[in-house]
Amino acid sequence: MKKFIIANWKMLPQTAVQAREILARTDEFLGGLQERFEPSLVFCPPFVFLDEVATALGQSHLLHDAELGAQDIATRDEGALTGEISGPQLAVSGVRYVIVGHSERRWTLGEDDATVNAKLTAVLRNDLVPIVCLGERERSGAWEEILRAQARATFHDVAPVDIARCLIAYEPVWAISTNPDARPDTPESALKSIELLRSFFAEEFATADVRVLYGGSVNPDNAVAFLGTKGIDGVLVGGASVRPDDFVQILQAAIAPL
Ligand code: PEP
Repeated sequence: MKKFIIANWKMLPQTAVQAREILARTDEFLGGLQERFEPSLVFCPPFVFLDEVATALGQSHLLHDAELGAQDIATRDEGALTGEISGPQLAVSGVRYVIVGHSERRWTLGEDDATVNAKLTAVLRNDLVPIVCLGERERSGAWEEILRAQARATFHDVAPVDIARCLIAYEPVWAISTNPDARPDTPESALKSIELLRSFFAEEFATADVRVLYGGSVNPDNAVAFLGTKGIDGVLVGGASVRPDDFVQILQAAIAPL
């Protein structure tokens, strides 16, 4: 199965010039390869740079090797919702993937499971591909049950056939680089949590067909290990995805183990 590398730019970079620099470095890297880049590469910029990135993805090596994602979506497809961006608007902007349930939206911006579920439904309704983030805040106490409960609340009314359309990103919150004392999970331990999620979907939704990525402090030093682990379907990269040198090293790491 093809591995995914999802670049979540969060609220960065500051300028379009910097955004173009990340894309140009990626394009240069892809252009230097002897063979086609095998993993699926998805850029999820802030809304203000969607056009900028869509234009870059229409050119040169990025044309064949990268796709566009968004970081959020409105729960409704139309109506008076100041500040929101709808699924149909994303679709006509060239977006194919949408992140929902990111821990920063859940815990810093107060999105509850019902809102995440409504956004997930909006992504599916618009024939886009959801990237659904799940992850415990702490690796202590009943964290496994907490993770299962979050998955249950997020997906409760989603049909198995639609779950198979999703990319699930297992992102333990304590591993996300911007959190105090963040430390990356290890590939072995991340794989156990990913297997826990696979069993959950098999038991409660009768679907064994789930693609699960890892996210949390992926960097040039650990990318080979995560991407080379069978059972981890790719990585979601935050901070390192806006540092051009780090990002191309992560792409380079993706070639080694595949
Ligand atoms: C993220 O924002 O989803 C993420 C994984 O961030 P980082 O790679 O910076 O830990």
